[in-house]
Amino acid sequence: MHADVIVVGAGPAGLMLSCELALAGVRTRIVERRTEPQRDSRALTLHPRSVELMDLRGLAPRFLALGRTTPGWHFANLETQLDFTALDSRHGYTLFLPQARTEQLLTERALELGVEISRGYQSTGVSQDADGVEVQVRGPNDGVETLRARYVVGCDGSRSGVREAAGIGFPGTEETMTGVLGDFAVVDAEPAALDEARARGVLVAPLEGGLTRLVYLDPERMRTPSRMPVSLPEFRTSLIRVCGSDLGIAEPRWLSRFGNATRLADTYRRGRVLLAGDAAHIHFPAGGQGLNTGLQDAMNLGWKLAAEINGWAPPGLLDSYEAERRPVGRAVTEDTEVQTLLAELTLVPQYQRPAAALRGLLNELLGIPEVNRLLAGRTSALATNYVDATVQGADPLVGRRMPDIGLVSAASAATRVYELLTQGHFVLLDLTGDADAEQAVDADWGSRVTAVTVTRHDGHPELDGVTEVLVRPDGHIAWATRGTEPVVRRAERATALAAWAGTPRGAVAR
Ligand SMILES: Cc1cc2nc3c(=O)[nH]c(=O)nc-3n(C[C@H](O)[C@H](O)[C@H](O)COP(=O)(O)OP(=O)(O)OC[C@H]3O[C@@H](n4cnc5c(N)ncnc54)[C@H](O)[C@@H]3O)c2cc1C
Repeated sequence: MHADVIVVGAGPAGLMLSCELALAGVRTRIVERRTEPQRDSRALTLHPRSVELMDLRGLAPRFLALGRTTPGWHFANLETQLDFTALDSRHGYTLFLPQARTEQLLTERALELGVEISRGYQSTGVSQDADGVEVQVRGPNDGVETLRARYVVGCDGSRSGVREAAGIGFPGTEETMTGVLGDFAVVDAEPAALDEARARGVLVAPLEGGLTRLVYLDPERMRTPSRMPVSLPEFRTSLIRVCGSDLGIAEPRWLSRFGNATRLADTYRRGRVLLAGDAAHIHFPAGGQGLNTGLQDAMNLGWKLAAEINGWAPPGLLDSYEAERRPVGRAVTEDTEVQTLLAELTLVPQYQRPAAALRGLLNELLGIPEVNRLLAGRTSALATNYVDATVQGADPLVGRRMPDIGLVSAASAATRVYELLTQGHFVLLDLTGDADAEQAVDADWGSRVTAVTVTRHDGHPELDGVTEVLVRPDGHIAWATRGTEPVVRRAERATALAAWAGTPRGAVAR
């Protein structure tokens, strides 16, 4: 297959992006240097917005069937948990699902959609010209090939060779602190001992197959560079130091050290080379946000790059990927730096007293519903808002995620908005119940935009007074109006559709 897009890396970001591209009819090939899928899971969690993304594509049942949910998540390991149930989502919980499972499910989906996944292929160089890119790959048996495509996306993780080949800087701060993790077949400890370990900051999480994960920071070993391997004796000695017992650990399956290097790519796009996931941003895994942020990058980029390749992208659409996602990457790196700082202060002897006081204060603040909503909204990514400050007079809904309201319409069997988005098209909801929008869109934009006349809906405080809303393929609101005058609405709608969904059908080559 001749690919339109080569995605380097079959991690969560690369797989999600490939699914989005293939859904939009783009010929996509992933090159992945590993010959086999990754068995060990760094990440264990999907946060609410990531589960919503799966829901937007009809995949949530597959993910929910393999994971388990818990109503919240922690901020900086504070005792008062973030309560995701207070957020406005059908998925107000954390889904515990090992990264290997997320990758497995996304791989299945990518293959269903026709993505070509070439394992055992390492990209060794990238160059570009006016019409396309060339990606050098070393395949099985050391065979060297040059692949040509229209775009390449580096989803090749923190040490991204694509980023380097494109000359994109990755500034930030070096690693100053490391933690350790261990997956054990045997953890032979009383529940009280495990509770005590948790109280002393050790993360204890059950995994599939009867394994238990332990993660912690040892103040006496936290300056050990992450490149140094972790031995079982070291893990045991540190654990005893941190929580007074070795918790009966035996039969380690995976021991690893990870650090707090924090970096953000200078740009997410250079010409025909784009970056997503850890290739674009890295940080300490405090808050469990890296994988989640990568999936959300992919969801933002997929339909825009597909629009470019399919020939209908309005000017600036592809560049809006960086404009929208790089600030999110920056915010996530800053947020994790705050959480990491608090963890570090707690461990450094001279700061322990004020750090305990600060933790006490933050614990109290987190108990205030508005504070919970603010931090839970950020961590869950439900609060992500792609508002464009340069656009004057837009409805306050523009840029926010569309709430998944229940609805009834004559033309569709869907019972809620997210069911309308599974094909990755724009959805134009006419909440007035007249069929004006449906007719206009069917005639001009065809399958790019699905217009639905809603005869009844659940109502939602944010939608009070809204008469029409245009939802982007990634579930964010492109345009909304509260206008009631049909002529005005028609003109506004046409402008919005042209700005987002490009020139009407017929003017497009493919
Ligand atoms: C201890 C720990 C716990 C974590 N917990 C969480 C959590 O709970 N929640 C969360 O959201 N995040 C968590 N993370 C972060 C998460 O694991 C990463 O953010 C995520 O894996 C990034 O996904 P990615 O697809 O961008 O990159 P990666 O997962 O790194 O995938 C990159 C892929 O590219 C391939 N590749 C690299 N170079 C080449 C090349 N030259 N040619 C071909 N292929 C190449 C690699 O083999 C790999 O498969 C954690 C991280 C750590 C270290």
